[in-house]
Amino acid sequence: MRYVSTRGGADPVDFVTASLAGLAPDGGLYTPEAFPQIERPSADEPYHVTAARIIKAFAGDSLSLETLTELSRKAYAAFSHQSVAPLVQTGQNQWMMELHHGPTLAFKDVAMRFIAQLYEHALGERGERMTIICATSGDTGGAAAAAFAGLEHVDVVILHPHDRISPVQRVFMSATGADNIHNLALEGDFDQCQAIVKALFADEQTRRSLNLSGVNSINWTRIAAQSVYFATAQAQLGADRPLRFVVPSGNFGDALAGYVAARCGLLAGFECHVAVNANDAMKQLLNGGDMQKGTTTPTASPAMDIQIPSNFERLLFEATGRDGAVVKAAYDQLAAKGVAPLPERAAGVLGCMGFKASSVSDKETFIEMRKTLDETGWLVCPHTAVGLHAARHAPSDIASVVLSTAHAAKFPETVKQATEQDAPLPIRAHGFVERDEVYETGPMELSHVRDRLRALSRVSS
Ligand SMILES: *Cc1c(COP(=O)(O)O)cnc(C)c1O
Repeated sequence: MRYVSTRGGADPVDFVTASLAGLAPDGGLYTPEAFPQIERPSADEPYHVTAARIIKAFAGDSLSLETLTELSRKAYAAFSHQSVAPLVQTGQNQWMMELHHGPTLAFKDVAMRFIAQLYEHALGERGERMTIICATSGDTGGAAAAAFAGLEHVDVVILHPHDRISPVQRVFMSATGADNIHNLALEGDFDQCQAIVKALFADEQTRRSLNLSGVNSINWTRIAAQSVYFATAQAQLGADRPLRFVVPSGNFGDALAGYVAARCGLLAGFECHVAVNANDAMKQLLNGGDMQKGTTTPTASPAMDIQIPSNFERLLFEATGRDGAVVKAAYDQLAAKGVAPLPERAAGVLGCMGFKASSVSDKETFIEMRKTLDETGWLVCPHTAVGLHAARHAPSDIASVVLSTAHAAKFPETVKQATEQDAPLPIRAHGFVERDEVYETGPMELSHVRDRLRALSRVSS
């Protein structure tokens, strides 16, 4: 199994190389040269066994099933629920898939735990160390910090905007107690943190000397690991039963993983409702709108405040009939002009790929949190509520599965405001609160971050 770039300008590589690289060298996203056909799991196959089997199909000869089973066993042992992604019924013919049973209470744990084990294994084999740099507006940093904490071959440096993330989110990244996890709280906003990460990757000398890598959702391994729970939901609800997945969406990683599961034969069909907040770029794109660099509006579901959904590039690649030159031309134009029309061939196809979309306001999100509590007794996080609201107002005659992307306790202020209830941290998260937080503050400057990276990284140049 080889991986090609969505922009057509990189040599094909194997699964492990694509995983360690993150982004392809031509700026595109790695994607498998063909979708493997994978046997659907049975309802009683343990989650980590299903995960190993599905990821094996993506990994080809680069990893054995035995190795993958061991990595996946270690990755999912950290979950507080045996089935990792349990389903609970929320209505007549509607279920919620709880993806927040990992250590940092958001679905990011599912893929990040696996990536961390894969990196540790692959770097150990190669006798290498790596430095992972990660800018976060909240959940990704915590999931990465917790997943990589204490590993031998990887140092993680997380950049977050000082005083602009919630205290609960900060605790998950700064109180790991591990000396290979480093937090820089920078004076500024998330977009500036992200710009510094991009500048570091563009700096060839720094990138090579620190063996720099990234684990945000452009990394194919995240998509592969997330396709697993779409398959387990299908198995639990009946192998041949048509399902509609409702996915709260930001960078379009989770929704794309559903599409990939379907292309690999893991689902009985494919219907996916993409639920976004006021930042509705993804909805516009699916309806044939232009690609543009919009500005983000802060909302009550901050993990979805994204206007350039990076995984759209993979869908566009499919919609153009896998024409890397066309995808590259569109993204070059977007970079140069700030706006680009969808390539003609793609515009017609996007509407027929199984996706629908709707945008949910903060007011509607709050109302949904309250209604869900009244109807089911569950407190849900605001991102999950965006999905539940979309499902409620776009009824379907087939069974719906709404992805619950985070635990309510991760957003206690919003939960309180919407429902007047407290959302206490589950017991498994108490360890974080008891440890001391370790992070250093500093200026939002490339030179400062580069100096700190050189000092903190154990990669010897
Ligand atoms: C990251 C995140 C999302 C958005 O997921 P994408 O894969 O980026 O679309 C939704 N909800 C929560 C809680 C998240 O952390």
